[in-house]
Formats: sequence, structure tokens, C-alpha cells
Amino acid sequence: MKTALVCGAGGFIGSHLVKRLKREGFWVRGADLKYPEYDETAADDFAQGDLRDVNFCKAIVDRRFDEIYQLAADMGGAGYIFTGENDANVMHNSATINLNMVDVASKNDCKRIFYSSSACMYPAHNQENPNAPVTNEASAYPANPDSEYGWEKLFSERLYLAYQRNMGMQARIARYHNIFGPLGTWTGGKEKAPAAVCRKVAESKNGRIEVWGDGEQTRSFLFVDECLEGTTRLMRSDFSGPVNIGSEEMVTINQLVRIVADIAGKKIDIDHIPGPLGVRGRNSHNALIREKLGWEPTQTLKAGLEKTYAWIESQVRTNKPKVVPQLQKV
Ligand code: NAD
Repeated sequence: MKTALVCGAGGFIGSHLVKRLKREGFWVRGADLKYPEYDETAADDFAQGDLRDVNFCKAIVDRRFDEIYQLAADMGGAGYIFTGENDANVMHNSATINLNMVDVASKNDCKRIFYSSSACMYPAHNQENPNAPVTNEASAYPANPDSEYGWEKLFSERLYLAYQRNMGMQARIARYHNIFGPLGTWTGGKEKAPAAVCRKVAESKNGRIEVWGDGEQTRSFLFVDECLEGTTRLMRSDFSGPVNIGSEEMVTINQLVRIVADIAGKKIDIDHIPGPLGVRGRNSHNALIREKLGWEPTQTLKAGLEKTYAWIESQVRTNKPKVVPQLQKV
């Protein structure tokens, strides 16, 4: 039986990944500070602990795993990453996790490791035109991410590639672009745009919701199932990356609101308010993934939003907001 370790298994993408690996027949160990918030974990074994602690990392890597997925990170949406208030924590916590995990895996003969980077590492100056953002993989340098979160991702990409060069590791690196779906954070300040819009539309009683900025900033969003398809294909391929895993269906935030309002069957007007925005435009660029994996995401944004809205609307209707456990300050 093949074995996999998923770091960040209590998080949104990690908990979905555990389920997928179980369906594929793997024995799976999950590791995280916390259990998944909205569902039981599907892992055979779940180690609750802090990946900033190298002894915890050593304890969970007690065998030769066939696949290690390192998804744990101190992260959140624009309200968490772009205010500047969490910069030291984001950099310290995520870098420490990556430094620990790649080294422990390498020393325990676990050669194949996946790392989830982010489109946030692309240079800010290439994403000023909302209609034509540049995010092909080669445009990463000269580097100029617009957040410390992006800088840490860039550093860690290089860290995994250095272990590949010098320590015989097989690194697999994806740059995720705005992943969304059911069972993701939808309230509390760390939620991303699709979840925030779904929640606001579901909660709206007066037909109005607030959106940060003028809503003309562009993004693309990828449904979590397709993210995992790309992730596992990359992991089992001969290609290291970094490679974009994202959708090329670019929309403005105002368009995103309209799609969600249609799904909800509500007439929604938008109040534009000041708030943290990130880059003006961002879209995935999928030429490299098409070339290297012969695959790219195909599901429409609307199809993913229908599933996500249905889940968030049921959370709004039936559940109290969950308390998100905070990491210890540096
Ligand atoms: P998430 O916040 O839901 O999951 C991350 C998990 O890491 C959380 O469960 C958290 O508890 C855990 N974690 C954080 N610090 C830890 C520590 N010290 N020890 C143990 N566990 C710790 O995020 P997600 O959306 O599932 O993202 C997974 C990965 O993908 C992250 O690396 C993220 O940066 C990357 N990514 C995500 C997106 C997206 O749109 N969701 C986009 C780009 C990149």
C-alpha cells in the first residue's frame, strides 16, 4: 500500500487532498495544528502539532513515505496578507515550516515532496493592467511580489529546488491561483474573495453587499477538485515546476458578485468601500502546464461557485461561525 503525508491536512486544500488520496487507496497521515473545521478528517492517522517544531516534524516522518505534500502555511485572504499587520508571522511561520519539512524529509529518504507556492509571488509591476496581467512562469524574475507572503513563497520555491539540486530530492512545485470550494474558510477574516462574496450574498437581507475597491480588479478562481487533479498529476510526473495551477477564466470582482447573485436568485447592489486590494489584475497562464502535463483545468467558474454557494449558504443558515485558532505570535 502506498503511503502519503499531508502537512496542512486540517486546512482547506489539505483536507480535500486527504480525501482524494484515501479514494486512491493510499495510507494517509495528516499533520496540522488543528483538525479540519467543517468535516471529519479522512486520514488514517492525524498528528496534531506544530510544524515549526523540528521534533514534531521528525516524529511524523517515521517511515519512507511515497509522497509528501507540504501545504501548511500561515495564510489568509487579502484582509490577512495585505494589511502588513501579519508580515512577521507569515514569513517566520511559513519559512520555518518549509525549512523543517524539506530537511527532515530529505534525511529520512522521502525523496518526493510537493510544495504549494502561490501566484502571489509574481511581480507586482506585471499585474497593473487588469485586462492583461502577465503570469507566465518565466516572468517571476526579476522578482517583485507585492506581499511578504509572496516573498516567502519565492524563497521556499528556491529552497525546495536547492534540495533537489544538492540532496537528491524530487521537488514538485505548483503556483496555485485562488483555490475555492466547499469546506473552506468562509468567515472570520481569513476567507478569500469567492467565499466572502458567497457569504455576503447569502447573508444580505437588503439586497446590498460591500466590496473592497471599485470591484474592477480582475482575478481567476480554480475549483478545489481541479486543483487536486493538477497537484497529483504534477506530483507523479517527471516535471518539477514551478508551474501554474489555476483557471484562465478571468473575471472582475463585480462580475464574480453578479455570478453569485444569479446562483442565489437575488438582486444584489454593491457598495464599494476602501479595503486591502492586492494587485490590479491576475489570471493564470496555462501554456506550461498544457505542455508538460498535457492537462489543464476545464470546469467553469459558475459550476464551482454553484457547489460553493450551496455549502456556504447552508453554513450561514444553520451554523454559528467557527473560531479559527490563531498561531502563536513570533
Ligand atoms: P489553509 O489555511 O486552509 O491551510 C493551511 C493549514 O496549515 C491550516 O490548517 C493551518 O492550521 C496549517 N498550519 C499553519 N501553520 C502551521 C504550523 N505551524 N504547524 C502545523 N500546521 C500549520 O490554506 P489552504 O487554502 O488550504 O492552502 C494550502 C496551501 O496552498 C498553503 O501553502 C497556501 O499558501 C497555498 N495556496 C493556497 C491558495 C488558495 O487560494 N487557497 C492559493 C495559493 C497558494
